[in-house]
Amino acid sequence: WQTAHISTGEILRAAVKNGTELGKMAQEHMHKGNLVPDSLILDIIRETLTAPTFSPNWMMDGFPRNLAQAEAFDGMLKDIHQELMAVLNVDVPLDLLIERLVYRYSCRNCSAAYNLKLNPPQSEGVCDQCGGELYQRKDDQRESVENRLQVYQDQTQPLIDYYESRHLLSTVNGNQPIEKVKEEIY
Ligand code: AMP
Repeated sequence: WQTAHISTGEILRAAVKNGTELGKMAQEHMHKGNLVPDSLILDIIRETLTAPTFSPNWMMDGFPRNLAQAEAFDGMLKDIHQELMAVLNVDVPLDLLIERLVYRYSCRNCSAAYNLKLNPPQSEGVCDQCGGELYQRKDDQRESVENRLQVYQDQTQPLIDYYESRHLLSTVNGNQPIEKVKEEIY
């Protein structure tokens, strides 16, 4: 089995792009940089975990984002007799984090990420990997970024203690080139 990469943010962005019911309910929250209601997120996770073709090896990216999600996730894992092996905290200094977000451009087609300052594409506005169009996520504009960082501090940061106390947390140094961070994760 390959490791399945589940990004709740990617799933939501696809839903917004396709104009689904989920997308319509999530859109406003996302654009402002707020969390989408837990019930919507937990439905996505439950569906993903219980799909018949779902790989037993998986990595959640961007989930859980608050204590209620983490507790509900514990219950779901118990139901399917799975256990968390590790929780990764990718640690990046605040000023670098802001720079990575506000200069980030993503590919509409394959979701590859670039940074106009730190990792620009070879030709402006075009994805090196697939030739797709690059765009700036609405929530990467400075105003939303500031709110997202506040939301992180208030709601997500407490999960560090939650998982540390269960000896599941590993901190990865995110202040390194992409390949190095990848190496540390795997
Ligand atoms: P991300 O791609 O992980 O940065 O997520 C982008 C946006 O999607 C977030 O700012 C939230 O609005 C929403 N989102 C993604 N994952 C979650 C989650 N686990 N709980 C609530 N909202 C989420």
